[in-house]
Amino acid sequence: MVLKKRLLGKNLEELKQIALSLGMPAFAGRQLAEWLYQKKVKSFDDMTNISKVGREKLSRQYEVGRVEFSDCQKSVDGTRKYLFPVACTHKKGLNAVESETEGNLECSSIEAVMIPDDGRRTLCVSSQAGCKMGCKFCMTGRQGFHGQLSAGDIINQFLSVEESDELTNTVFMGMGEPLDNYENVKRAIEILTASWGFAWSPKRITLSTIGVMPELKRYLEETRCHLAVSMHNPFPEERLALMPVQKVHPIQNVVALLRQYDFSGQRRVSFEYTMFDGVNDDKMHADAIRRLVDGLDCRFNLIRFHKIPDFPYGTSQEVKMEMFQDRLSRAGITTTIRASRGEDIFAACGMLAGKHKEEA
Ligand code: SF4
Repeated sequence: MVLKKRLLGKNLEELKQIALSLGMPAFAGRQLAEWLYQKKVKSFDDMTNISKVGREKLSRQYEVGRVEFSDCQKSVDGTRKYLFPVACTHKKGLNAVESETEGNLECSSIEAVMIPDDGRRTLCVSSQAGCKMGCKFCMTGRQGFHGQLSAGDIINQFLSVEESDELTNTVFMGMGEPLDNYENVKRAIEILTASWGFAWSPKRITLSTIGVMPELKRYLEETRCHLAVSMHNPFPEERLALMPVQKVHPIQNVVALLRQYDFSGQRRVSFEYTMFDGVNDDKMHADAIRRLVDGLDCRFNLIRFHKIPDFPYGTSQEVKMEMFQDRLSRAGITTTIRASRGEDIFAACGMLAGKHKEEA
């Protein structure tokens, strides 16, 4: 049996090379890109402006590579959580081609969450199956690492949710640390923003990271998309107790790097701050944040914590969150309390995939 390679996740240059290698004209590469990413077809038979001979040659060696979701949970507030099966590699830093051809693949499940809000449809996508970073409050972190998603796996999430044609924004905030799979995430961003791809403005894309270097610097240099940094605590020792990454990439170093870039124009940087009752919601934390980001053009999103099993802390009281917001706002930092979404369908990252793993 011939193992077919996947077209989804390839960029224009690679599609042109594939067309040429099969004896088709180079412009067929652009036609392929348009069929894959704009007309969103699932089969070569639908690519009607490509010759029948060309389609036959393609289908002998390649597949489109679309994968249907295996489960979808719908919240009363309209949030939808999709589960996708994936087969992914353990190796870091593979490009899209390498990760498609890499052996030693592991089958796993990943989540994508569609969040409707005032006419916007934001898709929260996964970049890895599981995660290595081990943040103590995160269900995905608890499940360990199962593999890197290819660019095709990431793009498939955009194409295969039921709201694909209505999506307005995306956040790389699902399962995994996107900067730990930077080559494939960057490829997905290229496909999302290129004129031959989805043709989205970079302003519609936000990457959320706990601050992994040196990929964070590369992201800031190589894309024009927004950035969200998970801070969760401004004090080094306290942050370390929640997030092992603090030992290798302290938040102080992350902020120092951000100071080298301009966030006063089109591009925004925000900090994610999950509020744990009695842990990081004191006024001394707010004051330490003010000192840490003093002079940096940024915003803060305060997040209610979705309780997870076997984690000792609950979410902060509403009144404390409001006081925290007020203290930061008075220091000149635009601060919002993020509305909870999809609580009735296990909205915390990794919950649905974890549930299926247990059932399996
Ligand atoms: Fe990984 Fe993000 Fe969970 Fe931390 S919060 S373990 S980086 S998925």
